[in-house]
Amino acid sequence: MTIASQAANVVIPHFVEKAPLERYVGPARPTLVGMSREELAVALGTIGVPLSQRRMRVQQLWHGIYVSGATRFDVITSFPKDLRAALEDRFTVARPEVMAEQVSVDGTRKWLLRLPGEGEGPHEVECVYIPEPGRGTLCLSSQVGCTLTCTFCHTGTQRLVRNLTAGEIVGQVLVARDRLGDWPGRRTDLLPTLPHGGVPTDSGRFVTNIVMMGMGEPLYNFDAVRDALLVAADNEGIAISKRKITVSTSGVVPNIARIGSEIGVMLAVSLHAVRNDLRDQLVPLNRKYPIEVLLAACRAYPGLTNARRITFEYVMLKGVNDSASDAKALVKLLKGIPAKINLIPFNPWPGTSFECSDWDSIERFSEAIFHAGYSAPVRTPRGRDILAACGQLKSATEKLSVRERMALRAMVMTE
Ligand code: SAH
Ligand code: SF4
Repeated sequence: MTIASQAANVVIPHFVEKAPLERYVGPARPTLVGMSREELAVALGTIGVPLSQRRMRVQQLWHGIYVSGATRFDVITSFPKDLRAALEDRFTVARPEVMAEQVSVDGTRKWLLRLPGEGEGPHEVECVYIPEPGRGTLCLSSQVGCTLTCTFCHTGTQRLVRNLTAGEIVGQVLVARDRLGDWPGRRTDLLPTLPHGGVPTDSGRFVTNIVMMGMGEPLYNFDAVRDALLVAADNEGIAISKRKITVSTSGVVPNIARIGSEIGVMLAVSLHAVRNDLRDQLVPLNRKYPIEVLLAACRAYPGLTNARRITFEYVMLKGVNDSASDAKALVKLLKGIPAKINLIPFNPWPGTSFECSDWDSIERFSEAIFHAGYSAPVRTPRGRDILAACGQLKSATEKLSVRERMALRAMVMTE
C-alpha cells in the first residue's frame, strides 16, 4: 500500500481535549512504583515491618502492584489491615496522571501524562500504545524533551526539561494497563472496536512488547531506564520478556554495552545515514561518536548472535539518504554485524523541511537490502493522525496551536 493511499484513509481523529481522566494520589507521599525489591524492603522498614517479615511482605507488595495492578493499598488483601493503613499513610502506588487520551483511526493510543515539576510547573510526556495482530507494543518516554537535536525529529526541537525517574518510566506501563483494562479480572469495555484495537493478543495480554522509542535519549538517563526495565521484565511481576524489550539510542557509545550487560534487552540504533558528513547533519551526536566508532560498539555488543540481532533504524528522507548507492553502502557498512534494518518512513511535523521518500524509493531501498541478505521491514506509520508516530512526540507544554494542527492534518492527508 502506498503512503498516498494510506493517507486517503486518514480521517480527522477524535481529539480528547486536556481534562484529567483519572486522579491518583498527590505527590506528597512517595510512590512505591518503580522501586527495586531492596528499596521496597527499606520502605517497609520505615513503617515498622520487622526484618523477619520484610521479604515476604515485599513479595506480596510486588504481586499487588505489578500482577494485580493495585492503585491503593487497601486492595492488597494479603496484608493485615493495620499494615495497609500504615502504607496508605506514608506511601502511594501513584502513576503519572493521565491528562488526555487520543485514539487514532488505526487503533493506536496516545496518552498525555503529567509529571510533577521540580519547583517549576508540572511536566508532560507522552506514551504510545500500538496494537497489531498478535502483539501490543508500548512506546515509552525516558526524558521530558531531549538534549539532542536530530534535525528530522519533533522531540528534538523541544529543550530538555528533565530526566524521568524509574517510577515514572514503569508508571507508563501501569497507566497503559489501567487504561486498556489489562489486569487480571479487570478487563473493561474501554476499547472501542477498532481494526486491531479491540482485541487482546494471543497471550490474552494487551501489552506484550516495550520499546524505549518515545521522547528522549534513553542512554542519557541510563540508571532510571535500567531500573525501570528490570522491574518490567521481572518474572514475578509485569513479566515482559527481555527479548521483547528494545532500547533505541541515537548512538551514545559509552553506554551501549551497558544495555546488554546491565539490562540484557535488545538494542536498536538510529543510524539514518551511511556517511559521516550527512549523519553529522541529521544526528548531530555523530560529531562526538562517528559512524565507525558507533559500529565498533555495536560489534562488541554483549550477547550479540544471529538470534539476537541489533536493529538499525533508518528514517527515509526524500532525496537525502534514500538513493540506491546509500542502500549499497548501508549493506557494506553493516557487514559482519548480526543486524535487522528497520526502514521508517519519515513522519512529518509542522515546520520541518524534510519530506518522506516516495513509496517506490522505499521499496527499492528495502529490496536492495533484502537481496543482500538482511531483513528490511518498512515500519508502517502508526497513529500519524494523532501525532503519535516515531519522532512526532512533543510535550503539550509546547503543544501545537490549532493552526499548526490543521497544517499537519493537511500535510498527512495530501502526502
Ligand atoms: N532517542 C532515541 C529514541 C527515541 S526516537 C533515538 O533517537 O533512537 C525513536 C526513533 O524514531 C529513532 O530511530 C528516531 O530517529 C526516529 N525518528 C525521530 N523522528 C522521526 C520522524 N519524524 N519520522 C520518523 N522517525 C523518526
Ligand atoms: Fe532525541 Fe532521539 Fe529525537 Fe534525536 S531522534 S532528538 S535522540 S528523541
